[in-house]
Amino acid sequence: MKVLVVAAHPDDEVLGCGGTAARLVAEGNDVHFAILGEGLTSRQADRGSTDANHLATLHRQAHAAASKLGVKDLSLHKLPDNRLDTLPLLDLVKIVEELIERVEPDILYTHHGGDLNIDHGIIHRAVLTATRPTPGQPVKEIYAFEVPSSTEWAFQRLESPFRPNVFIDVARTLDAKIAAMECYESEARNFPHPRSPEGLRAIAMRWGSVAGCRAAEAFELVRSIRL
Ligand SMILES: [Zn+2]
Repeated sequence: MKVLVVAAHPDDEVLGCGGTAARLVAEGNDVHFAILGEGLTSRQADRGSTDANHLATLHRQAHAAASKLGVKDLSLHKLPDNRLDTLPLLDLVKIVEELIERVEPDILYTHHGGDLNIDHGIIHRAVLTATRPTPGQPVKEIYAFEVPSSTEWAFQRLESPFRPNVFIDVARTLDAKIAAMECYESEARNFPHPRSPEGLRAIAMRWGSVAGCRAAEAFELVRSIRL
């Protein structure tokens, strides 16, 4: 199976489905990570060299994180961070369409539409548009993942609440997910932040307890089509 993960920012791909991606790779599937935003939170119009260095570091970290999970295929699209709402949606849709044409994924994982982070919601919408189920559309299943400190911090006030109904056992790959997150040194947070190693383990154990296993990642099935 070919799997495409479409994420807004470097580290979302790990936070959202790192354990699942590592498991899919271990099971012999092709997994491709696509990160659309550049990952720089600075808002200066004119970037200095410090930012350029920071950006290069972040992108090196993205490659290191992907390799911890066994994912060889990573594309970085470098769109402006936290400002995807300033771009025409069509531009984003075209990027996702090109990815789909190239990767031909059977399954696609992406953001939940009701996250606090505005880029996440926009990516969700762009994915839905790019994967319209016209004849020849390779994408048969779409799953929305949660991103700790964005999905739950919308407090179910934004449309729509995250309602996971698919759980993937990641007991064997949770350590790889935590190790992949540690590659993003600049994004590291201490407990009780939801992105801290303890926070990520607690979330995985919580979903595991829902699903009857030691650790799980939770997803909301957006669409499944069998022809
Ligand atoms: Zn994000």
